[in-house]
Amino acid sequence: MANEFPQTLTIAGTDSGGGAGVMADLKTMQERYVFGTAVVVAVTAQNTLGVQDFMALPQKLVDEQFASLAADLKIRACKTGMLADAEHVHGVVENLKRYDFGPLTVDPVMIAKGGAALLADDAVATVRDELVPLADVLTPNLPEAERLTGVKIEDETAMEQAAVALQDLGAKNVIIKGGHETTPDQARDFVLLADGRSFWLSAPRIDTVRTHGTGDTLSSCITAELAKGQDFETAIRIGKDFVTAAIANPIAVGNSHGPLNHWA
Ligand code: PLP
Repeated sequence: MANEFPQTLTIAGTDSGGGAGVMADLKTMQERYVFGTAVVVAVTAQNTLGVQDFMALPQKLVDEQFASLAADLKIRACKTGMLADAEHVHGVVENLKRYDFGPLTVDPVMIAKGGAALLADDAVATVRDELVPLADVLTPNLPEAERLTGVKIEDETAMEQAAVALQDLGAKNVIIKGGHETTPDQARDFVLLADGRSFWLSAPRIDTVRTHGTGDTLSSCITAELAKGQDFETAIRIGKDFVTAAIANPIAVGNSHGPLNHWA
């Protein structure tokens, strides 16, 4: 008899350098022992130095990838990453409403660490109004949380306020990734669950430039754990631990913002 693994889906952009986007998602899913599939929305020319170019695929081809999966596979949990522009955000939302691919984790990817815009400016409103309300888990970093809510986040109280504002927009469970922005020695993230419980996740800050793809790795690990049937709190806690371990043991790839160690 064939082995069965929970099937998961990432809806995102590729990274030719293998460190972020669809590539990081599939590697993470593999490490978490779920079967990973991908709807590619955009293709980037990218390495550890940055994003040199990207192009979104025709929306029709994106729609066809969704239809292919729905016709054959049994997706238990899915995530979104880089969606490029308002047309594609809207198109992905339409597909997510059409098909049941299980709990949705939304990583509202906007700007890569190197500074490249992976989401058009005028698409932020589409993410906020159309995609965030579908999110079972929303995983913004501080700048993304600020753009989505209008809350200026300068301390941890403001992080908590932004999380409430994101729930007001319709997201069910929220994790705001603080990194080390508000606390120099700790990487602290704030979690607000759908039932109103909240907590901080802290890990010692690791001084490294090899952090490319951390957001993708967190959101795809959460997706993998939800596909296995874990509850939201457990999936988020496992995600944080997985990312922390993947940053702690760097691998030598490329000359700048290198990828995480998913084997860690
Ligand atoms: N490229 C793609 C396709 C991504 O999805 C992302 C992040 O979500 C990035 C690049 C940026 O990765 P980072 O900001 O971790 O370098």
